[in-house]
Amino acid sequence: MSSQANPLFIEPAATAARRSRQARVAWGDRVVTIGGDAPVRVQSMTNTDTVDAIGTAIQVKELAQAGSELVRITVNTPEAAQAVPYIRDQLDRMGIDVPLIGDFHYNGHTLLTEYPACAAALSKYRINPGNVGKGRKRDAQFAQMIEAAIRHDKAVRIGVNWGSLDQELLASMMDENASRAHPWDAKQVMYQALIESALHSAGEARELGMNPDQIIISCKVSGVQDLITVYRALARRCDHALHLGLTEAGMGTKGTVASATSLGVLLQEGIGDTIRVSLTPQPGEARTQEVLVALEILQSLGLRTFNPSVTACPGCGRTTSTTFQDLAKQIDDHLRAMMPVWKARYPGVENLKVAVMGCIVNGPGESKHADIGISLPGTGETPAAPVFIDGEKALTLRGEGIAQEFHKIVESYIERRFGSVTAAH
Ligand code: SF4
Repeated sequence: MSSQANPLFIEPAATAARRSRQARVAWGDRVVTIGGDAPVRVQSMTNTDTVDAIGTAIQVKELAQAGSELVRITVNTPEAAQAVPYIRDQLDRMGIDVPLIGDFHYNGHTLLTEYPACAAALSKYRINPGNVGKGRKRDAQFAQMIEAAIRHDKAVRIGVNWGSLDQELLASMMDENASRAHPWDAKQVMYQALIESALHSAGEARELGMNPDQIIISCKVSGVQDLITVYRALARRCDHALHLGLTEAGMGTKGTVASATSLGVLLQEGIGDTIRVSLTPQPGEARTQEVLVALEILQSLGLRTFNPSVTACPGCGRTTSTTFQDLAKQIDDHLRAMMPVWKARYPGVENLKVAVMGCIVNGPGESKHADIGISLPGTGETPAAPVFIDGEKALTLRGEGIAQEFHKIVESYIERRFGSVTAAH
């Protein structure tokens, strides 16, 4: 008998995602598609001095290996532009298939013209319309960058940021607003200016001969509600692929939560084709943290699957030992560490669901929902840990070596379930 959808539950908006144009980011004979039917892509940015080509190539490699599918690098000086082809070359030698995006401000027109090897080695140019030039020079300098993109068959991102919004445009829109019978709130004018700046520049690029499928747009702001408002309006106004991110999100928990909250709302509405989480690294924190957060956002929304998921309860007064916390962390760390190898060996392993629970209250139930789960004994319970595999109680672990035994059970489950896929091919 065929099943029917329960009318009480409405499909998540993300399943009926808006379809933007598909952009093509290419280097050599390799291509990454953005927008259209492509999955939402993860982007990141280095914080090394680009002149340090080796240091930059190493960081790009780390970001790519963490899951970044596009990496942006600063190109701000002739020396940085000269380093770009060398960085590309180093990445190719290391087998790192990730496109490089050049981040240009103020002098991009000069660098892209005077350093053609840099223009060729990059896969996409980020152009900030607020930092292209002032007055009469602005249009000519913008055109120079677009002509370089056309000449080298590269995509561009028209990346507006409210920290560097085109001040001439903003001033003229503020004047226009002041002459209204009922002027808008200044913030509304700012939203409008961000979008107009991006769309006007995209229109100019198209008039200069740029293929619309090679234009990606962003309008980044640092407030959660501001970002949601701006991107909803932007998505209604154009069909270009959109790069999405909360700019200057901040550090640690604040930056993570603010990014996840704002990106989550928009992605759920089908808005956003690439994302970046602009975290300020905490002292000693790896740059790759921003990539891990971006992956988690997409995986939490069910838009993509990168790693097996470990469900663990928060713990409470029913479990006073840290055994289950330790086990949940060990399993999570182990699964992540093994993923680079397992991805190739066990196709589909990223869909694995593991549960590590603290006591009998939710332990057996949650464990049955996972592919493989363990319900550890809470305070006062018999020191035994039932293990559930594919929804059925399979065995009970006891004694000191529960963690090690559970590790082995998870590994043999992965081998049995996902290893057979490899064997079948
Ligand atoms: S499963 Fe048990 S230990 Fe974990 S939060 Fe629930 S009641 Fe507490």
